[in-house]
Amino acid sequence: MPAGFPDFRLGNVLATSFTGTLSERHGNAVERIPTPQRLADWLAVNGLAVEACTTAQLERAWELREAIHAAATAAALRHALPASAVRVINDCSAQGRAAAVLTPEGERRWQLSSASCVEDALGVIAADAISIIAGERDGKLALCASPTCQAAFFDTSQSRTRKWCDMNTCGNRQKKARFNANHRKKGG
Ligand SMILES: [Zn+2]
Repeated sequence: MPAGFPDFRLGNVLATSFTGTLSERHGNAVERIPTPQRLADWLAVNGLAVEACTTAQLERAWELREAIHAAATAAALRHALPASAVRVINDCSAQGRAAAVLTPEGERRWQLSSASCVEDALGVIAADAISIIAGERDGKLALCASPTCQAAFFDTSQSRTRKWCDMNTCGNRQKKARFNANHRKKGG
């Protein structure tokens, strides 16, 4: 399994993990799916393995990702959802033909209609985004407190007071910054 991507099954949410593939959106943005192969790697890590991916499919994935980001950000801020973003999300959801299947171990898997049908995988991601933006799932959409990030994330903590999209990146960086600032003050 390719490394380097967070695994949504360990508590991450599929749709916001996907929008997180463009990180530091308000700083020096880092594109983590710059090529069709990297998109295929990300899909494999997230239980949506495809055999091949074209440049056109990658471009469609970017379009969906930015639509989810725009709609999730609006939802977190309780603003009206941007119509163009809603249209892209709905189109992707309608085009996907993935089927949920149950494994003998009692786990849900996604079965794509063909081995290279990236559109099916995008449909699963779009449907996931719809369920969190519609407020159907247990959790709250919020924006990361890091000024260079501001990513929309799905807070499933009991208190709903999570501040960072990811403790290992934004949370850690903020802790270090605070530590360094205190240290400088004490050092005079
Ligand atoms: Zn963040």
